[in-house]
Amino acid sequence: LNPVPNDIEISRAQTPKPVDRLAEEIGLLPEELEAYGRNKAKVRLSLLDRLHSQPDGKYVLVAGITPTPLGEGKSTVTIGLVQALSAHLKLNSFACLRQPSQGPTFGVKGGAAGGGYAQVIPMEEFNLHLTGDIHAITAANNLVAAAIDARMLHEATQSDKALFNRLVPSVNGVRKFSPIQISRLQRLGISKTDPASLTPQEVSSFVRLDLDPSKITWHRVVDTNDRFLRKITVGQASTEKGQIRETGFDIAVASEIMAILALADSLKDMKNRLARMVVGTSRSGEPVTAEDLGVSGALAVLMKDAIKPTLMQTLEGTPVFVHAGPFANIAHGNSSVLADKLALKLVGRDGYVVTEAGFGADIGMEKFFNIKCRASGLRPNAVVLVATVRALKMHGGGPNVSAGAPLPKEYIDENLSLVAGGCRSNLKKQIQIAHLFGVPVVVALNVFRTDTQAEIDLVCQMAKECGASDAVPCHHWSQGGRGSLELAKAVKEAAHRPTNFQFLYNTEMPIVEKIRTIAQKVYGAEDIELSPEAGSKIDYYSQQGYESLPICMAKTHLSLSHMPDKKGAPTRFVLPIRDVRASVGAGFIYPLVGTMSTMPGLPTRPCFYDIDLDPVTEEITGLF
Ligand code: ADP
Repeated sequence: LNPVPNDIEISRAQTPKPVDRLAEEIGLLPEELEAYGRNKAKVRLSLLDRLHSQPDGKYVLVAGITPTPLGEGKSTVTIGLVQALSAHLKLNSFACLRQPSQGPTFGVKGGAAGGGYAQVIPMEEFNLHLTGDIHAITAANNLVAAAIDARMLHEATQSDKALFNRLVPSVNGVRKFSPIQISRLQRLGISKTDPASLTPQEVSSFVRLDLDPSKITWHRVVDTNDRFLRKITVGQASTEKGQIRETGFDIAVASEIMAILALADSLKDMKNRLARMVVGTSRSGEPVTAEDLGVSGALAVLMKDAIKPTLMQTLEGTPVFVHAGPFANIAHGNSSVLADKLALKLVGRDGYVVTEAGFGADIGMEKFFNIKCRASGLRPNAVVLVATVRALKMHGGGPNVSAGAPLPKEYIDENLSLVAGGCRSNLKKQIQIAHLFGVPVVVALNVFRTDTQAEIDLVCQMAKECGASDAVPCHHWSQGGRGSLELAKAVKEAAHRPTNFQFLYNTEMPIVEKIRTIAQKVYGAEDIELSPEAGSKIDYYSQQGYESLPICMAKTHLSLSHMPDKKGAPTRFVLPIRDVRASVGAGFIYPLVGTMSTMPGLPTRPCFYDIDLDPVTEEITGLF
């Protein structure tokens, strides 16, 4: 339709096929499906065993140029592309998307189901609770937090003996260690299994985690932009006997458990990763894990359904897996390894799986390759780099605009010199970054109504001059899959080219060298500058045996550098590393470049002002 109706109107005008029919079409057995209502279902991981010998399809990553408030449309391109591959080129295809957080849905950004005629439907189910995975993560995360504070209280108020008697209770006159306690004993170097045989000193080291309250890194989480929880004080009731400490909340999608969900490749792997999570440090400087707290089995129980990807569909009936949604700034910003693996088996040798990485290629794509591909063992066949004329104009020197503000004329009228400036700087650099990994790049120009033909032609021509194997305009937003047919053909062609995949760094390199490699080769920095705190943390993590973990940079997504207002491709800067932290369960070290918010706030007029429900029809309005 012209004009294109709003996202929720389009979504509602299409009736999704029942999920069991969709499942049958893609070759799932009824027993591999757990339906959640009519439109979505979780898929059991036993499918991976059944399809073990099936060859994988082609694996395509959608990434973007450096984001601007004017938007690029990576999700929209991902969905438009699979719609074109499937409905128009008749190739088996699957999209793998992240589950959106409710923080942005009710805050500034809105939902993430795509837009226009390239959407996952029903978009209100996609954008809201889905199948409860984020709620499960919140429950698991906060159980760890409760376990930490309760344990510190109990250790502060009880003798070794009283603690031991409670932790290893006598049942019918017999004391027995639980399996989780036996593994803690083993880590302490105590090989005894009879509780009565422990010496008083062994009892003491077993019962006392002796967490240093000032070195607890674990935060509580909630999936709301609730800025007043950034810093809180807990333990103020008299029942907590003065065990007062400052801590904070993060948004649920910034939690380590979310990153684990996205990286685990089996239930067993998830359980092991949950057990390894380090929550803080003891007074003697030893890391304290979820397993030490005795909570890791319970966490696996809370997460047992969340590990199964959720099956949905696009407006044109193409299958979509929605699974995991780790923050792209302090975590790795990619959907789950398991969803990609299942989808690659389901589409088979001639099919295509299109998966999306958050933010610009310098962040989402770099982490996709160096962290996600390392964890999964999968290797992509092509990268689709999404650009828009408007965002390129901003990178080429156009004025800054805040989200939702009226567009200055530079972004409405034709301006070839700004477009060329953006191509020469940001687009070129992001293409070069993909080439560092040896994968061909197709540039997808997501066309907006205001783009002129000369601007579109210029981007496509310059993208090819900058090394893209192809560059095509896409009209999926206004036309659905038909509008991305050229992109689908270009991707098919690129995915059949030979790749020369390589990681950017070897994990055995020292932590500092890995950080420097990313800063110089990906961001274009001259060097890095470590704060004294960052330097001592690197020494500590190296001593603890975490030196060979990959690096997950926590950097602004708004610039290739650490300075959000520096657009294009900044040069001559030194990247300051303020601090370095570790997500041992997820399996990465994350250096902090500048201040990263792990709990967004609400603006004066958040999206929720427009969100409403008709109590008679139960129709939702205002989601986009
Ligand atoms: P990203 O994945 O990069 O965050 P999305 O694909 O979610 O971006 O798109 C962000 C918003 O921009 C959506 O509301 C979508 O409807 C809108 N949008 C995307 N492409 C276009 C387009 N070509 N024309 C108009 N609006 C668009």
